[in-house]
Amino acid sequence: MEKWLSLWSIGQNGNISDFTDIKQSGFDGIEIWAEHSCSKEYLNLAKKSGLRIGLHLPFHDLNLATPDKILYERTHQILVEWLATLSHYGGKHATIHGGYAWSSEERDETLIRVRERLLILSEEAEQYGIELLLENLIPDSLNYCHHFASNVDEWIELIRFANMKVCLDIGHLAVMGNDLETTIKQLGSYLGAVHLSDNDGKSDLHLLPGEGINLSAGLNGYLANQKFSGPIVYEINPYKYSLKEIINYILMTKV
Ligand SMILES: [Zn+2]
Repeated sequence: MEKWLSLWSIGQNGNISDFTDIKQSGFDGIEIWAEHSCSKEYLNLAKKSGLRIGLHLPFHDLNLATPDKILYERTHQILVEWLATLSHYGGKHATIHGGYAWSSEERDETLIRVRERLLILSEEAEQYGIELLLENLIPDSLNYCHHFASNVDEWIELIRFANMKVCLDIGHLAVMGNDLETTIKQLGSYLGAVHLSDNDGKSDLHLLPGEGINLSAGLNGYLANQKFSGPIVYEINPYKYSLKEIINYILMTKV
């Protein structure tokens, strides 16, 4: 298993010495946060620093599940452009959100669209030598919209159909209300990456491990049982912690 850092966690003002510190503190790689205005610059800094590179594809304004044909075409185009860029930098995985149905009543018909769109995109990703990973999302508590995927059965159905793997966000899973060990067993060889942070089981707080209800307790053992060898990506709230605090945590706990 490798230890990675989401660049969401460093904010938008990172420089080369931050990347050197990330590397020296023991992180093996970084996951680019595509919506950062400096995300392309971060790709160069990561490469210079000898860090492995992955990507969290953009999702704001880009609803993969949209019923609007033109919005979908634009969304698809932006996602494919990012896959090409990632491949240029030697990246091997891209995490994606499946979008959302405009209302929960439209879930079933929208699910069919999402499945087909993910299949098309995972085939494109394969051409670029990239593994596309579908992340689990927090259900809309009002049941107003429906996020894909926000329950485990739906998640597994989608990745089987689209021939892709998953990025398991353990913070999202806790808010979904699912047990970590059971879910990791269900996902088995579909596990491509893990997003790690802590929370209170109610909100997606992206805390350092141990500052919530200790969601990552037992995680390494559960993953080892499935022979997981992919990245564990620390996805820590940049509005609560500085990079220095994150690195100090990593050095102190020797995780
Ligand atoms: Zn995500």
